Amino acid sequence: MEHKDTTLKQEIEENHFNFKKKYGQNFIVDKNIIHSIIKKSEIDKETLVIEIGPGAGALTVELGRNAKNVIAYEIDETLKPILEKNITPNTEVIYADFLKRNISEDIKKYNYKKLYVIANLPYYITTPIIIKLIETKINFDKIVVMVQKEVGDRFKAKPKTKEYNSLSVFLNYYFNITKLLDVSRNVFMPKPNVDSIVVCFTKKENKIKVTNEERFFKLIRDSFKQKRKNLRNNLKEYNLEKISKTLSKYNLDLTVRAEALPIEIFADISNSLEENK
Ligand code: SAM
Repeated sequence: MEHKDTTLKQEIEENHFNFKKKYGQNFIVDKNIIHSIIKKSEIDKETLVIEIGPGAGALTVELGRNAKNVIAYEIDETLKPILEKNITPNTEVIYADFLKRNISEDIKKYNYKKLYVIANLPYYITTPIIIKLIETKINFDKIVVMVQKEVGDRFKAKPKTKEYNSLSVFLNYYFNITKLLDVSRNVFMPKPNVDSIVVCFTKKENKIKVTNEERFFKLIRDSFKQKRKNLRNNLKEYNLEKISKTLSKYNLDLTVRAEALPIEIFADISNSLEENK
């Protein structure tokens, strides 16, 4: 059953808040969804949570109740009057563009046992946010994000599916990715044109062995450059003889397309391209 949070809706209306499409503002107005996210994230009083885009605070307030501390980054300062009313005292809101912040600096003053990112992400910068989280090199114990269904499906895509692309392989290198929840478009205000899913990223304990990450990531990007083309055509500039030799170990040849290759084979090809090999 859908249970709409009328108080939040009222607050938004009473404050004459203007939703800004350019910031991807679709707020959750269904408390059941918030509670499911909190429950499935398994946060506790030893967890510091980073939230990107608290909006009117629907998720933020529950994060505050369940976590040790919350740091929330919000780009839109006009949300301040609504947000400040809703948050708990253990929450710090930083009014800034998350993509421009030095997160390592921001978390320095906090003591915590676990560090999570939990957010309903602004859809227009979903991938840059995930890439920033990786590039900060901060050891997040868990990342739980709500994203557009189509995007989330790509994040967790497996080889030989139409969703599988270079980003799937890239993310798969760092994380185990699972779906936690399906979320209907009807739980948002304003209602978007697509449904969402909540995905969970946990760091891989044993990352696949890659001798040169830069070369590995370039190989992945180049292999998927033109999705319909096979490796022979996408990797013209590479040492095709070496690649062919590696592929033959898996009973494959250069006519294979990138979308059929699991991460282990990409790693093997990349390692085989090492100068002296
Ligand atoms: N968490 C709220 C919820 O679930 O109801 C709002 C989620 S809404 C999809 C995304 C939020 O991200 C908006 O409040 C928007 O203003 C904020 N936002 C957009 N771009 C941002 C950025 N670069 N840095 C920080 N916040 C941003």
